[in-house]
Amino acid sequence: MDNNVYYRKIPKVDKVLRDPGIQGFLEIYGRELVVEAVHDELDSLRSLALEGKGEKMDKVLSCLGDNIRDRLEQKKKYSLKPVLNATGILLHTNLGRAPLGQRQTDAMAAAARGYCNLEYDLEKGTRGKRAVHYAEEIKKVTGAQAAVAVNNNAAAVTLMLTALAKGKEVVVSRGEMIEIGGHFRIPEVMEQSGAVLRETGCTNRTRISDYENAINENTGALLKVHTSNYRIVGFTEEVSVEELAQLGKKYGMPVLVDMGSGILTDLEEYGLPHEFSVQEILKKGADVVSFSGDKILGGPQAGILAGREEYIRKMEVHPLMRALRLDKCLTAALAATFREYRDKKQAEKNIPVLQMLSRSRQELKRQAEEIAAALKAAGASGEIRVEESAAMMGGGALPGEKIPSFAVTVVPGRESCESLAERLRRLPVPVIVYIRENRIFADMRTVMPEDKEMLLNGLKQCLTQQKEEI
Ligand SMILES: *Cc1c(COP(=O)(O)O)cnc(C)c1O
Repeated sequence: MDNNVYYRKIPKVDKVLRDPGIQGFLEIYGRELVVEAVHDELDSLRSLALEGKGEKMDKVLSCLGDNIRDRLEQKKKYSLKPVLNATGILLHTNLGRAPLGQRQTDAMAAAARGYCNLEYDLEKGTRGKRAVHYAEEIKKVTGAQAAVAVNNNAAAVTLMLTALAKGKEVVVSRGEMIEIGGHFRIPEVMEQSGAVLRETGCTNRTRISDYENAINENTGALLKVHTSNYRIVGFTEEVSVEELAQLGKKYGMPVLVDMGSGILTDLEEYGLPHEFSVQEILKKGADVVSFSGDKILGGPQAGILAGREEYIRKMEVHPLMRALRLDKCLTAALAATFREYRDKKQAEKNIPVLQMLSRSRQELKRQAEEIAAALKAAGASGEIRVEESAAMMGGGALPGEKIPSFAVTVVPGRESCESLAERLRRLPVPVIVYIRENRIFADMRTVMPEDKEMLLNGLKQCLTQQKEEI
């Protein structure tokens, strides 16, 4: 069949670009994007011409301008965008770990826009130190003599070992030879830092005598590492920070603790097992502790080093510090986070991670019931239920610890769970769920009250429309 009659319907690129409506787009989206969108639209017309779908072509041609605008709107969207986390994993590493609250992001935005006194002493009118903005807040909350922060905890541990123990041996228990995701392994971090790993004890049991026997004239520090993402159970023994601190004092060397998560509150209040807080570890005699800003602490991505003044100073003046320091946005967000912790009630109200932990099961159940009822009322397809579920801390913190929660579950009517999950991911604000036992779970623990409506709308949209024909 001769398709030329169809191809002749397709306008030339230049002609489309000269259209006054399209000209208006140039101002908003820029020439490159507009030209690309016009090409894409004409390509889709070409496919229709090839198939001889003349009627469909006429329809497309009648709303060419609108189609091009839709394409431009799609094109201008950033690849990084907000998603709804309905996985019940609070610190989901793939979803950006700790979400920040209004006060934290306000502080960040204020610092980002325009100029700020990042390194300027307003009293003296001379150069100041960027660490002052957060260090005072950290000292007040943790009771540390001094504090400094870098880009993440991996950087903090590297800086700590480099600045305090380069060329010296650092004693670590074989039970704490951890690998965190993303290539953070204690032996390799040690090698990078220029310190020499001196393993001691056994995987399941390490005694204080093991540490003492490992010490020689070349030892630079004793390091304790929190086994954040695994647990050794059964016939086990580990050395407390107090005991290590005594040993460190006896031999005149610093005791360093990589805590992983920075915990500043009593987790038992949220029904979780006790974990030593930063304050407690420092009180027990650790010389320097390091921890993440965006794990249970609920702040921005950062690695915080807190402890004895003499050691913190050594790290502050180390050349690596220049490569690892926080930018103005993180500096502001970190200070704002610690400010909230000065008052426990404020922290629970304004730090999302703590907010999520402190929500009651009843509250979560009610939220799930409201969503389920609204879905049913809207005529959603599939089997919709409210079920008990188990949320998790995630981010390599509190491994295996289940946090009681409730979920809206859906057994899809005409499609597989994978297909429904995929359609949920394709929403303008993607909804991330998990699949278990042939149904979809949307866990309420990570869906804040202000996100409820958006989750409902997303589910509604996917469950009230048939799976699109391909
Ligand atoms: C998470 C963790 C790290 C790495 O921290 P990041 O902030 O992710 O760089 C290092 N050590 C321990 C013990 C951890 O739990």
